[in-house]
Amino acid sequence: MKNIIFIAPPAAGKGTQSELISNKYHIPHISTGDILRKVMKEDSEIGEYVLEVISSGNLVKDEIMYSLIEKRLGEKDCQEGYILDGFPRNVEQAKKYDEILDHLGQELGYVIALEIDEKLLAKRITGRRVCEDCGTIYNINEPSETPEIESTCDICGGKLYQRNDDNLESFKNRYQVYLEKTGPLKDYYEKKKVLYKVNGNQSIDEIFEDIVALLEEHK
Ligand code: AMP
Repeated sequence: MKNIIFIAPPAAGKGTQSELISNKYHIPHISTGDILRKVMKEDSEIGEYVLEVISSGNLVKDEIMYSLIEKRLGEKDCQEGYILDGFPRNVEQAKKYDEILDHLGQELGYVIALEIDEKLLAKRITGRRVCEDCGTIYNINEPSETPEIESTCDICGGKLYQRNDDNLESFKNRYQVYLEKTGPLKDYYEKKKVLYKVNGNQSIDEIFEDIVALLEEHK
C-alpha cells in the first residue's frame, strides 16, 4: 500500500477514517495529535509548551514536529506504507516532508482532502469523546456514533474523555489556522497530481467507501 496523508479541518473525521484504513490495509496509523497529546502529559518543559499550544488551537513549532516525524517514519512498521494523520499542516512542513521522504527512500502516495461544511464541524467538535485506553472516537451529537453506556467505550470498557481543545473557542482558532495554513496544501499537492478530494459531509461508512474506491482505482 502506498503512503496516505490527510488534509482536513478539525473534527472532519480524519482520525476515524485513518483507523478504518489502518484496519483494512494493515498499515500503521500515525496521528501527530495523538503523539503530541502524550508529550503534553509529560512533566517537562516541552510537555508544558505542547499543552499550552494545543489548548490554544495553534500549531506546535515545526522543528519539534520534524524530529518526531522523521523518527517515527523511519521505524520498521512504516516500510510497507502508513497513514499520516495531522502532518504536514503548512507549506513549510510539506516541503520538509518531501525531504524526509527522499531521505527515507519513500514516496508521497495519496493525499486525501476531506471537504466538509464548517457548521457540521462545530457540532462534531463539541460532541467528540475519545476512549482514554484504546483511542476509539465517539460523538454524542450523532446517534449512530454514541456509546451504548454513557462515558464508556463499547470496545474496551475504558473511560471516555473530551479533548481539552474540543470547545467552540479553541475550534474558532483551529479552523482559522486550518484555512490560513493547512488549506493551501491542497494547491501544493494538486500540482503534484496526488490530491484526491472526498465529500466529508457524508456518514462515516459512506466516506470510507469513497476512500476505498479511490485507493483501489489508483493503485
Ligand atoms: P489533531 O489531533 O490532528 O486535531 O491535532 C491536535 C493539535 O495538535 C493541533 O491543533 C496542533 O496544536 C497540534 N498538531 C498536530 N499536528 C501538528 C503539526 N503537524 N504541526 C503543528 N502542530 C500540530
